[in-house]
Amino acid sequence: MYKVIAISGYSGSGKTTISEELLKRGNELIYFDFGFLFRPLTYYLINELSLDEDGIRKFILSGKLQQIDLTYKIICNKVEVGINGNFYSSEVLNTPKMNMDTVMVGSIVGDSLNEALRGIVDDLKCESNVLLNARRPVVAYPEVDYHIFLETDFDERVKRKMLMNGENYEVTFKKLKERDQKEKDSGFWEKYDFTQTIDTTNLSKNEVLDKVVGILNNDFVYFNNLTLILGSYMCNKNCPYCIAKNNQKFSTCDNLESLDEILKELLENDIKFKRFVLSGNGEPSFYSLDDLKLIKECLIKYRNLFEIVRVHSSGNIFSDEDKFSLFNLTDLPLEFEILRVALNSDVDMKVLGYSDDYLKSLLFRNGNIKCDIALTDYLECFDLSLQLNDFLKNNPSIKKVRLKKLLVGDDDTTRQAKWVKEHSLDEDAIQKVILELGLTLKDGIYQSDDRKILYKTSGDYDFDYVINDGKLQNYKNEISWAKVLRRKLGG
Ligand code: SF4
Repeated sequence: MYKVIAISGYSGSGKTTISEELLKRGNELIYFDFGFLFRPLTYYLINELSLDEDGIRKFILSGKLQQIDLTYKIICNKVEVGINGNFYSSEVLNTPKMNMDTVMVGSIVGDSLNEALRGIVDDLKCESNVLLNARRPVVAYPEVDYHIFLETDFDERVKRKMLMNGENYEVTFKKLKERDQKEKDSGFWEKYDFTQTIDTTNLSKNEVLDKVVGILNNDFVYFNNLTLILGSYMCNKNCPYCIAKNNQKFSTCDNLESLDEILKELLENDIKFKRFVLSGNGEPSFYSLDDLKLIKECLIKYRNLFEIVRVHSSGNIFSDEDKFSLFNLTDLPLEFEILRVALNSDVDMKVLGYSDDYLKSLLFRNGNIKCDIALTDYLECFDLSLQLNDFLKNNPSIKKVRLKKLLVGDDDTTRQAKWVKEHSLDEDAIQKVILELGLTLKDGIYQSDDRKILYKTSGDYDFDYVINDGKLQNYKNEISWAKVLRRKLGG
């Protein structure tokens, strides 16, 4: 269940800065500023309908405002509001005249469009957490789940504003006094039983952010992946891009008996991950059934640590009924992840050096599969959309396709790195693939309308951790502890 979070507070207390930072950190978070309505609305009333102030009042009195169709789209995790289907550019919306006109329109329209805006929040909330910016957020959206109020000493706010606007102390002092009074009188400073107040006077940006994240963590801020990297390096494939075999930077010891202890500590420190990833440094299904059972028991025991479990596979697990069944169709929400260079199995098998076409296996057809497709020159761009449709139709167990840029690895002189550089598609070719598949940029990710085909331009591993050789580590092989992760979340 997604949540609605509102951050309000005094002018100069850091609301915008903290909201921006939170957007970078929070997963599945969409920013919706109710103010984003007023600029396009003002532009529409004045430039499209040619109304002056009087005309706007009459327009509202006649009830025509409610007939306006408010639509929205999400660009880089922020909502943009369209008026009767028109989305205006930021150049036309942000002129000095528009600044003045927007204040005028805002004061006439007041809360009269709140209901329509609430509908947008309800809509957003079906698919994501919502960070709401409204002057009176709880009035604007009464079902708000969190209300965080930032307050700061007046003198400190004057200093911050002086720096921001390049004005002297007296001018800033006077302007802020007047603004404070207006905001107070208009109810912008209202607090509620459930409001959490943070005094930001002596805190740095990161300290405030840590406090906010600490308040919200239980519900929606997760670390990304917790990957159990096993050390066998055994695999039935010979992928020329295999970083595991190329770098061999993780230990070959497994120390599986420590897994319970690590997960227990994470749980005790209230850490949550989006995914637990079982990865091989090779193929996990080459591990014994007993080892895999031990892992599975831990996952069941610490089920609340993750939203989903992902099992990487070369495809071999689909030829081993016992190991496949151990993970598939259990009480764990689980997906298998495979990686291909070609939709055609003959090509894929030849390039990646394997002999059994797992697509033909009955087990594969019964799994919940995420299929990564490497963006290399083995991917035929001609008619790709048609080919991919056929591929998905013939393999209905594939629920999601992710297009993936291959990584060169730590050393770009290796045979593996050379192969990646030689065969990876360049940016122009990638754009052609995106165009051919009709993917559009939503929430920072290229995706098909049904969200089944995805392409993310870059990865962020700051919130990813691994377990290797019985130790919790980051991707730089630095040892970490559950308490360190907790501090990262402001605990
Ligand atoms: S399936 Fe994975 S582990 Fe096996 S060779 Fe390919 S990339 Fe390496």
